[in-house]
Order: sequence, then structure tokens, then C-alpha cells
Amino acid sequence: MKTFAVLQLSGCAGCEVGLLNSQAWIDEYRLLYMPLVISVHDMPDTDRLLISGGVRTDEDVYNLHRAVRKTGYVVAIGTCAISGGIASLGNRDNVRELFFSQSARHHVPRLLPRSYPIDEYVSVDLYLPGCPPTPELFHSVLSENGKIRTNTTVCAECRRKKIREIRPAQITGFQEGKVSPEVCLIKQGFLCIGTSTRNGCGAPCPRAGHPCVGCRGPSNALIEKGSDAWFESIKKVFVALTDIPDDAIEEGLRSPQLSLFLFQFSDYAHTGRLPRPKEKVV
Ligand code: SF4
Ligand code: SF4
Ligand code: SF4
Repeated sequence: MKTFAVLQLSGCAGCEVGLLNSQAWIDEYRLLYMPLVISVHDMPDTDRLLISGGVRTDEDVYNLHRAVRKTGYVVAIGTCAISGGIASLGNRDNVRELFFSQSARHHVPRLLPRSYPIDEYVSVDLYLPGCPPTPELFHSVLSENGKIRTNTTVCAECRRKKIREIRPAQITGFQEGKVSPEVCLIKQGFLCIGTSTRNGCGAPCPRAGHPCVGCRGPSNALIEKGSDAWFESIKKVFVALTDIPDDAIEEGLRSPQLSLFLFQFSDYAHTGRLPRPKEKVV
């Protein structure tokens, strides 16, 4: 039986919960290390290593380097490991100040100047974006080597209809208004960015009436470009499908609700690295 381990860096453990909700791997893989559920002191050698969370502290760097030596195959799971996610909230000045004031206490690991994706430090074989990735996506990574079709957008998995005659003139706030169950959320004035977001999640958010915030990152058409290309692509859709003024669209798309994912994915660290090849992204 093949084996795998899960290393958690700075994140929220939601990815681990997503993995545990997927049972399809149980007959094929043996989980050897995952501090959230298995109490073993040190990481053993495994066939596959899944890493969640971003690199935010010197302890993360140490644990990351140590763990990748125990495997031949590394998978970055979840948005935090790939592009920052909640770990990158600490990049904001006020949050960073709060953390730095705590770092004088000896038991707190030393913070790095900012949050980094794990491929800033180690080589990654496969990327599984999502916050968290769905159980089906975990299954795809563990049992099918990531061979799931991800060459389209969330819209293709959402059953809502873009009715031509409906053209909202203003943005509807995230928690406002009554959501029609059939109509595309953009056509109801919501800031849904499923039009340019990578498919594979099954569109749980828009299907439940909540706009897609792009946690799966840019679609294949955009993933090898910078965040600006993703932003412009989304903006063009709103211009074409609504009568919302351009400046209101611009302001809305730069809102805090969307900023965690939209502006960090494809060029997250702004380090000038080559983009991640789409063939490696599930
Ligand atoms: S990607 Fe999302 S679910 Fe996973 S650790 Fe980060 S915040 Fe949590
Ligand atoms: S824009 Fe959003 S609500 Fe509309 S079809 Fe795409 S994913 Fe569904
Ligand atoms: S619908 Fe959008 S926000 Fe929701 S899980 Fe899919 S990519 Fe993430």
C-alpha cells in the first residue's frame, strides 16, 4: 500500500478537514503523518507529501525543508501553500505590527518579513488550489495523479443562467438582497468571479447562492499570466453583462472579500519567478 503524509504550515487546518472528508483514498493509501489526527513524533518516509499552509515563520521553513527530504513527490494543497491565502493576511502592516510585538515572546516562532508560497523554498510536483480543495479534488490528487479536467471555469460547473435581457445597474453587497435560484449571480449584481476562475470544485458557492470569490485561482487561460490579466478578464465580463459603472466595478473587485485570492495567485510573491506551468496545477 502506498503511503502519504500531511505537513501543516501556517494555515487554518481547513485543508486537512477537506482531505478527511474524502474517503476514496483509504483503500489505496496509508496516512502515516498528520499531526491533526495522528500522534507520531516525527515524519516517516512516504511516497507522497501533501503540504498545506504558507511559509510565514522560520519554524515553517525548518519543517518544510525537513519534510521534503522524506519523500519523492510533493503536492502543494490549498491556497495558502500556493499563493498566500489567510497566511498572507500578516503581510498587511497593522497585522504584521501585532505579530511582531508578539514575536518578542520566546515561545512564538520568529516571523519572516512576509508570507511565502512553499515553492519559494522547495520544488513542487503538483499544485492543488482551493480554500480548501474539495474532497473530490483530494481524491484526484491521491488516486488519479491529478488527472481531473481543469481546462474550463467555475461557470461551466454552475447551472445558473446568464439571461441577456437582465442588466443590473449596481452592485449587490455580498450578504444583501434575495438571491434568485436560477439566474447567474452577476445578472443579480453580485461580484461573482467564476467566469475566470479555475473549475474543478463543482461550483458549490454560486450554486448555493454565494458569489465565487476565486479560491481555485485563475483558469488555465490565465494561470500563466499575472494577476492583472485575471483582473482585467473579470472586469471585461462585468462591463459586457451589466450596466454597472466602470469605477464601481473596479472598486468592488478590489474589495477585501476578493483581495485574498484575486491579487495573489498567479504572481503571488512578485519575485519575478516564472509562472507555474498549468500542467502542474490540478
Ligand atoms: S487554503 Fe484555506 S482551508 Fe487550506 S489552510 Fe489555507 S485558509 Fe485553511
Ligand atoms: S458568473 Fe458566477 S453565478 Fe454566473 S454562471 Fe458563472 S459561476 Fe455561476
Ligand atoms: S466556487 Fe469559487 S470560491 Fe467556491 S470553491 Fe469554487 S473556486 Fe472556490
